[in-house]
Amino acid sequence: MRLLLIEDDDRIAGPLTEGLGRYGFTVDRVRTGAAGLTSDSAPDLVLLDLGLPDMDGLDVCRSLRARSPIPIIMITARGEEADRVAGLELGADDYMAKPFGVRELVARIRAVTRRTGTLPAGPPGPETTPATPTATLAPQQLGPLHIDRRTRQVRVDARDIALSPREFDLLAYLAQDPGAVHSRQQIMDTVWDPHFFGPTKTLDAHIAALRRKLGDSAWITTARGVGFRLTVPGDGPSEAAR
Ligand code: CA
Repeated sequence: MRLLLIEDDDRIAGPLTEGLGRYGFTVDRVRTGAAGLTSDSAPDLVLLDLGLPDMDGLDVCRSLRARSPIPIIMITARGEEADRVAGLELGADDYMAKPFGVRELVARIRAVTRRTGTLPAGPPGPETTPATPTATLAPQQLGPLHIDRRTRQVRVDARDIALSPREFDLLAYLAQDPGAVHSRQQIMDTVWDPHFFGPTKTLDAHIAALRRKLGDSAWITTARGVGFRLTVPGDGPSEAAR
């Protein structure tokens, strides 16, 4: 799958191009809006930075959309909330707010291409499908907890739980092996990104949010000094540990 990355910042474009390459994507990168609009690359999807040196990224988005239905994911900096909304109204399919990890972007790319019906052709890259047989996309039921990885919907006792993309990824990851302890490092490497450098405090914040949203903190127990595990409240080894 070929991506056109329109981004002037080398510190972002470099790691992104390399990281996406590891997932089997071919990335054509240009530094300006004008270069993006005149590029003779025939991408399957456009990654568009809104803060470009030569023109407003929103104008680039509008021009791209005016001539083709190609999926567009905007890359925005903090504080560009209004721009994100405007971009989505102009026809962008999604946005990523900096900073973000490659894994998260890949998940968005897949979600957008699924939604727009432009599924990538050809064989997946070496790391495209890390042991994700189709079977794991079947909805998962853990006690009252229902996880649908295909639609990214979560319910507890038939009540819809609204999760952020990261919260969903975190829950889905822990739920792959209920009861097993996942170390902080494993979680950061998988749900965040091996190339995402940030304080792991963000993990604690997401765990706290998940517990609150699931309605019972016992869903996720802390293995002190090690990591976290998901268990159905009242149904696991966590009961003795609490
Ligand atoms: Ca920029």
